[in-house]
Amino acid sequence: MKPKLRVCILGATGAVGQRFIELLEHHPWFEVTAVAASERSAGRAYRDAVNWLGHHPIPPAVADLTVGTCVPPADSVPSDRTAHSRPFDLVFSGLDASVAGEVEAAFAAAGYPVISNAKNHRMHPDVPLLIPEVNPEHLALIEQQRWGPTDTPGSDSGSGPKGFIVTNPNCATVGLVMALKPLHDAFGVESVLVTTMQAISGAGYPGVPALDILGNIIPHIGGEEDKLETEPLKILGDLSDPQSITPAKFAVSASANRVPVVDGHLESVSVRLTGSPSPGAVAEALRNWTAPDVVRGLPSSPEKALEVFDDPSFPQPARHVGLGNGMTVSVGKIRACPVLGIKFNVLSHNTIRGAAGGAVLNAELLVEEKTVSATV
Ligand code: NAP
Repeated sequence: MKPKLRVCILGATGAVGQRFIELLEHHPWFEVTAVAASERSAGRAYRDAVNWLGHHPIPPAVADLTVGTCVPPADSVPSDRTAHSRPFDLVFSGLDASVAGEVEAAFAAAGYPVISNAKNHRMHPDVPLLIPEVNPEHLALIEQQRWGPTDTPGSDSGSGPKGFIVTNPNCATVGLVMALKPLHDAFGVESVLVTTMQAISGAGYPGVPALDILGNIIPHIGGEEDKLETEPLKILGDLSDPQSITPAKFAVSASANRVPVVDGHLESVSVRLTGSPSPGAVAEALRNWTAPDVVRGLPSSPEKALEVFDDPSFPQPARHVGLGNGMTVSVGKIRACPVLGIKFNVLSHNTIRGAAGGAVLNAELLVEEKTVSATV
């Protein structure tokens, strides 16, 4: 059996960071050997620094780790990184967006593969915005990345391992795009209207005050609608030339709402498809769609990437968000829309498929494609 790759988690004390730690506890390829967070947490044992939200105890091997700062180890700066073995092989980032841009760029400049959940680098033309089942070919963009010490690409003069950044989409984008992908392939998407009902865990911890959300709906999530309207076009875009992605040519109009649900973003979607297929043809296209072979064998890949329900009252967050260990995206209530032609609901787990689980699947694909390997 091959030795596991050693993993550092940036933002390890946050909601997404904790999900990483849960999902990696028994992972066959990765083990968490370093955790980092803000100055507030640095220097403390992880068990003392974190407000653990998991349903199981903190994995013992992680509980005793000392939380570090989010700075690349001194022996891995570009100038001398060939001379030393490296303390870890791969970096997962669950950092707050206020710091993720510069911190992730610094780790990439120091030669580390960085798999990020943050928004900062998602729309950079050389950074893959990856859903392994949807656009694995976009990983070719990594070749073009050259990271300097700031959060913009610079000249990477180091001769050691090449660092890079791969991002996963916004937690509400993932479910939408996984449902649109089979329809775009089978018919062509022409326009999309989406209204989201997003869980409170999507706001991190402590997130939304209880008095604001209990018995209430907040019809605004800062920046979310813009992400829902732009990210799908990049993900479903064509890598016609290895130099760039041509975005998909359809418009998305999004309305984002925060609802009193713990986990799981439910979205109502209306879509205009080329050729105006029937609801039955749409359901068949969704049911027949399977992930590419390279993805289906990965450890975190669910048996079914998409679950399609006939019962119009399904999917529901409380009942279906855990399907496929939180990695299955569920679709239901497929029917005719008098405005755009077709409408349906889609549900995805925001901190698993929409964050840590999606990032782990991204990393597994990178290992499978031999873009990431152990560096000692
Ligand atoms: P969170 O619970 O607020 O956690 C934020 C993490 O960032 C904590 O570990 C925190 O460390 C660290 N941090 C904050 N300021 C820092 C600083 N100045 N220097 C270093 N570390 C700092 O947020 P979250 O929900 O886990 O989200 C993390 C990232 O994932 C965000 O970019 C978010 O947009 C994205 N995301 C979240 C979800 C979701 O469903 N929650 C889904 C997709 C993507 P301390 O504990 O030490 O403060």
